[in-house]
Amino acid sequence: MQNPDLTVDNEARPTGRIQRANSLAGDVYEAIFAQLMSLRIAPGSRITVDNLVKEFDVSHTPIREALGRLEGEGLVVKTHLIGYRAAPQITRRRFDELYELRLLLEPAAAAKATATLDDDRLAVLQEAAGVMARRVGKDERLRYSNFARQDAIFHDKIVEFAQNELIRETLNHQHTHFHIFRLMYHSRVTEEALDEHEAILAALSAGDPAAAEKAMRVHIENSRDRLLPAFE
Ligand SMILES: [Zn+2]
Repeated sequence: MQNPDLTVDNEARPTGRIQRANSLAGDVYEAIFAQLMSLRIAPGSRITVDNLVKEFDVSHTPIREALGRLEGEGLVVKTHLIGYRAAPQITRRRFDELYELRLLLEPAAAAKATATLDDDRLAVLQEAAGVMARRVGKDERLRYSNFARQDAIFHDKIVEFAQNELIRETLNHQHTHFHIFRLMYHSRVTEEALDEHEAILAALSAGDPAAAEKAMRVHIENSRDRLLPAFE
């Protein structure tokens, strides 16, 4: 992995093995996450620890740590004697169910959130949306996976501010955003969503529950329509 903060770790293999003390595991996790989101690691395909060790030039430990974390997020499946593989793509039926669930819960949550928003909370939401807009990196895969994570945070924060933990847990438990973003790797998925997020933010800033509900509904419906071609 390319990173200016990396220093050579000469304790083990002599050739170019790199390690950054603090967040090597985190970097490895982000790199594998980006490959899963951008479909470089195809859904359902085997993930070989030894191959990743070679590709990233790190030891087994951070790879196994990263895979364990991804397993907890539903993106990697570990099978006895077989090892790791990427979770299979969600089915069309599950896709429909996920969007039905989101449309039932998130527009109402956005409306409800307007009642609790103060300047601090609005700043949190603006930051979540702003971080997405600023991610204009050279690495398209990393940009895409960053957006997937940031989108999850943006939506989660709105539900948090609606103050219903059960709704929040229900949505988080599905790892909705990770599965949805993995359906199709395409820049349109992020560009149009950014405009829609702006509309949601504007309605929330205005403290207008009806507008917030509508902006969230439009965003989720558009998101569904953008991703539907993945099943054709
Ligand atoms: Zn979104």
